[in-house]
Amino acid sequence: MIQEWQIKSRNDGCDGCQVGFVDQQAYYTVLRFGEKGYTRRDLCESCREKADDDAQVISSWKGIYRVSRPPRKSTRLTTDAMEQLLREHMEIEEEANTSMIYLLAVMLERKRVLIEREVNRDDARKVRVYEHRQSGETFLVRDPELRLDELEDVRREVLATLRGEALSEGEDAEETSPGTDGCDDDADAQTEGAGASS
Ligand SMILES: [Zn+2]
Repeated sequence: MIQEWQIKSRNDGCDGCQVGFVDQQAYYTVLRFGEKGYTRRDLCESCREKADDDAQVISSWKGIYRVSRPPRKSTRLTTDAMEQLLREHMEIEEEANTSMIYLLAVMLERKRVLIEREVNRDDARKVRVYEHRQSGETFLVRDPELRLDELEDVRREVLATLRGEALSEGEDAEETSPGTDGCDDDADAQTEGAGASS
C-alpha cells in the first residue's frame, strides 16, 4: 500500500558518485513514482547531466544544500510549532488528519519554510510535493481539495491547537528548552480531543 503522506530526507551527498555535498552547493532532486511508491534521488551537477529521465520521473528540481543550523528561538516559535504539528500528523497517518496536514503545509509554504515543487495527480488524488527550505526534505501531502468554508473550519482548528501549544511552551521557554516527549504528549491529547468532539 502506498502511504498517503511521506517525508523523504535529503541526502548529505550525491546518490550517483557518493561525494558529500558542501554548504551552498547546488544539487538536483529527482522524484519518481513507481511500484514501490515515491523514491527520491539527490544528485550533484555532473551526475545530473549523466542521468536520463524516464517515465517514472514525476518531478525534479534544483536545490541549494545548506548545513543545518539550530533555529533562532524567538522568531521561529510559531513556525516551529506548525512544523512539529505537521510532522506529528504525517507520522500518525490517519485519514482524519488529511485536512489538517494539508493546511499546515500551505501555512508553512506562506511562511517560506516549505517550497511547493509539484502538483501530482494519481488515481484521482492530488498530491502536492513540498521541499523543506532548510533541511531539503521532501513532503508529499495529499490535497483534500476542500471548499473555502471547509478550509476555514480546519484553519480555526489548527490555530486553536497551535495557541494551546504556544501557551504551554511559553511558560517555561525562558528557562528550559521544551522536551520533545512533552510536546508529543500534548499534541496527541489535543488531536484525540478534537476528533472526539467533531
Ligand atoms: Zn555525483
